[in-house]
Amino acid sequence: MRLNNKTILITAAGQGMGRASALACAAEGAKVYATDMNRDALATLDGIDGIETRFFDVTDAAATVALAQELPDLDGLFNCAGIVHHGTILDISDADWELSLNVNVTSMLRISRAFIPGMLRRAEITGTASILNMSSMASSIKGFPVRTAYGATKAAVLGLTKAIAADFVAQGLRCNALCPGTVDTPSLRGRIAAAADPVQAEKDFIARQPMGRLATVDDMTPTIIHLLSDDSRFVSGQAVCVDGGVTI
Ligand code: NAD
Repeated sequence: MRLNNKTILITAAGQGMGRASALACAAEGAKVYATDMNRDALATLDGIDGIETRFFDVTDAAATVALAQELPDLDGLFNCAGIVHHGTILDISDADWELSLNVNVTSMLRISRAFIPGMLRRAEITGTASILNMSSMASSIKGFPVRTAYGATKAAVLGLTKAIAADFVAQGLRCNALCPGTVDTPSLRGRIAAAADPVQAEKDFIARQPMGRLATVDDMTPTIIHLLSDDSRFVSGQAVCVDGGVTI
């Protein structure tokens, strides 16, 4: 199993790609700390071998420090949490912008900062440790309508990823970003349901995927496992697109 003897923390693990990753990492032998701010969603992971759950709001700075003190040193960190603001620049209030920046970028910085010292200790022992940051094809890679705050913050994730990768590459700590296409998750279903015409909205999401379908969470997990495992030991600072060909 590719994640034997690895301890991995995953944020936003209650549903969607985070939840699928928690299950996939545990199935590959990892000890997984699955965290989320939705207690009910998190409870669906209770009792699964290899998974321990923790309530954790990624925007809570004090809880971030406390979690890093409580948990053992990590081999893997998957910063998965993120939110989608729907709107052009003309629709974004300062509060919307602050929230997107806070959830999508600042929390990632704080969590990485809190856990990197322990990850460096692990890398010194094992030779490698891996941070995976959730970005998107909607970032500096490609612009999409009504995704200003989202695209800007996911672009910032790529900058943060490369900076961390550059600073720690000689110490065995790698840092990469995942850039998914449109993935069928509960929040995507929520965005479709909230549209004026949900049937058309789903067609429009599918139409932007050249393979003619939405991704499933299981289209993402093989790459997530790859980037958290030693299989990717020579890969750092990369924005890995798993987007069904959108950015061909
Ligand atoms: P989702 O959006 O359905 O679920 C996200 C989870 O994040 C929820 O369980 C929610 O409780 C949790 N969450 C939200 N704010 C949080 C906070 N402050 N602290 C802790 N947990 C919090 O899942 P998803 O669609 O798989 O999205 C996960 C990540 O993937 C996000 O960063 C998203 O931007 C990114 N992403 C999604 C898509 C897509 O099409 N679904 C595409 C590219 C990137």
